Amino acid sequence: MKSRRASLSPAGSFAPSFANVLVRARPPLPSEASYGHCARTDGKKVVLTTETEAPGRGKRLKAVECQYDKVLGIQAGQEEVWGIAMPVVNKALDGYNVTIFTYGMTGSGKTYTMLGPALMDSAFEGQVTSSDLIAKDEHRGVVVRTMQYLFQQAPEAQIFLSYVQIYQERCYDLLQPPNVPSKPLKVREDPQKKPGQNVNVFVEDLSEVRVGNLEECLEYLMAGFGNVALRSTHYNEQSSRAHCILTLTLRQQLPDQRIRESKLRLVDLAGNERWVIHGPQISPQHARELATINKSLHILGSCLQTLSQPVTTNRRGQELVKHVPYRDSTLTQLLRDSLAGNSYTLMICTICCSILYQMQTLSTLRFADRVKRVKMRATICDTVDPAEQQQQIQAEVEYLRSAVSGAASGNVQELKQKVSELRKACLGLEGENRVLREQIAELEKQPVPMKSTMKKAAARVRRANSEPSLPTPDPWFDHEDLGDLQAIYYRSHDDLGSRMAGSCPKGHRLDSLGSIAHPLPAAANAAYFEWHCDRPGCRGSSRQLDLGRFHCSLCQHDLCQVCYDQLVGKSYSKVDVHAHRARRKPPANSPPSPVARARVEGVERRPEPERRQPRPAFRAAPAPARSAPAPPPGKSAPSRTPRGPEEPKGPEKPP
Ligand code: ADP
Ligand code: MG
Repeated sequence: MKSRRASLSPAGSFAPSFANVLVRARPPLPSEASYGHCARTDGKKVVLTTETEAPGRGKRLKAVECQYDKVLGIQAGQEEVWGIAMPVVNKALDGYNVTIFTYGMTGSGKTYTMLGPALMDSAFEGQVTSSDLIAKDEHRGVVVRTMQYLFQQAPEAQIFLSYVQIYQERCYDLLQPPNVPSKPLKVREDPQKKPGQNVNVFVEDLSEVRVGNLEECLEYLMAGFGNVALRSTHYNEQSSRAHCILTLTLRQQLPDQRIRESKLRLVDLAGNERWVIHGPQISPQHARELATINKSLHILGSCLQTLSQPVTTNRRGQELVKHVPYRDSTLTQLLRDSLAGNSYTLMICTICCSILYQMQTLSTLRFADRVKRVKMRATICDTVDPAEQQQQIQAEVEYLRSAVSGAASGNVQELKQKVSELRKACLGLEGENRVLREQIAELEKQPVPMKSTMKKAAARVRRANSEPSLPTPDPWFDHEDLGDLQAIYYRSHDDLGSRMAGSCPKGHRLDSLGSIAHPLPAAANAAYFEWHCDRPGCRGSSRQLDLGRFHCSLCQHDLCQVCYDQLVGKSYSKVDVHAHRARRKPPANSPPSPVARARVEGVERRPEPERRQPRPAFRAAPAPARSAPAPPPGKSAPSRTPRGPEEPKGPEKPP
């Protein structure tokens, strides 16, 4: 007899991206005591010895050595199993989905491992057991310990419980009261699945209860397990004939308003059962159960077989999508996510070491080996609670609305107030301006106004015009530009003669004029004129405060209508002024302007002896050329406006 060692999987260490596999050997029952062992556990290995018979070669012994993440022998207690399961349960607290399966032949100890003997007895034999006793039971199973651990580690988390059984490929809610006729529930896939996302599978109308403490949780567990379909089998007195899935949903509130929701599935699979041909007759119902259980477990194996295959790519290096027959059974459809999706999976494979069940044990070990190769893609399931998110958004919208409306109303009110203030100021200025104009007009009508009155009026005009009519400072009144823009009105002699003829009360010809001009351009339209009779011995004179026209101090021309309008209308700017200059710049060969001509002539005609010394005017302007009398020695000539046209600057100085 030869023995051969075969390895189902390469010896490897715990790989977090793959499903974890724990193999647990059940101690032999009294009925198996007289039979030998076929399996031996050794650290992480299971060595299974099988007897094969080849034609013509006789019987041969074959040893199969399998290596898993962890192997527990027959002496191992429930505490050691929990030692393996606890790190996986911890993942659920970290926000991952977690699934713990038990798989094995009927009677190999799956339910024992998951629930423990106390809970099993309460369901199978109808013993009344309190949740307190179950919680304190030394042999309590993984499910009870998990519940204890969750309430201990995350007391602030919300825990929801649902319990379902798949019996003959139909899904039933185990939390329904026993007197209520249970009806099968539909397993559905979330239609709003996006490409690249895992399919979300759920059971329609499945009741999910929130459990506040361990006692409550254990009560639901006991009640649910009491509803599981049981039957006496060839292997044990009472065996569950349905796959039981207990789901604990953990909802944890994170500090940054996110919700961490993870699902912890604890699955007690129904054991596969061999049809014993020479055994006692089984009922059709039992046969149906056996067939459906074996079928669903076979499909589970097929899914895992496909999933454990290495990834294949096409010639372009693209990953080929493999067909996994999840939909072939309700079990695989419901556990789709736990098999190869977003979950950390621990498979606890229970085996019997008796030689009676060596084929079943070999089958279980093969299954465990397949599971070990399945790659998992677990991710943290953090979401924002939709209701809370909606509330947050609504609060933000309200805040923004109030901010916008408050700001808008504040602005409008502020602006309205400003506008009304400005209107009032404008009205006040307009009124003052009107009054001043009227006063000026009256003064103009007076034939010989008093000098002081004239002074006052001129000062008043100056003051009024120096006050900006608009509250904002006029950018045009640049100090630098004052020299350029100072304007004074000069009438030509012809004009003067035609307009002022007969102004002298005695009917004599008027021959001199004086003028004042405000230094600011805005006031330059206020000019004071004084005419004197040029007849010797006649003291006839005429004075006039004129809001007249402009005269450019640089180009020596009257302002054109456009420029005048711009200046008077205050729609001017520097550009306008320079445009005016350019417009009025006399060409090199053009005749001099009337004023320039008059000045030149005045220079030539200055020594006219008989001219009367003109009365000094209020800031008298220079005497016009043709008729200006020469000042007598010792008497000063009438002064001109300091920056009047007498001191032309720049290139436009007339020849
Ligand atoms: P399964 O659920 O796989 O069909 P059970 O959990 O019902 O099997 O176990 C069958 C029998 O084996 C039960 O009577 C149980 O008490 C016993 N048993 C299973 N595992 C152990 C164990 N580790 N130690 C002691 N007894 C066990
Ligand atoms: Mg069982």
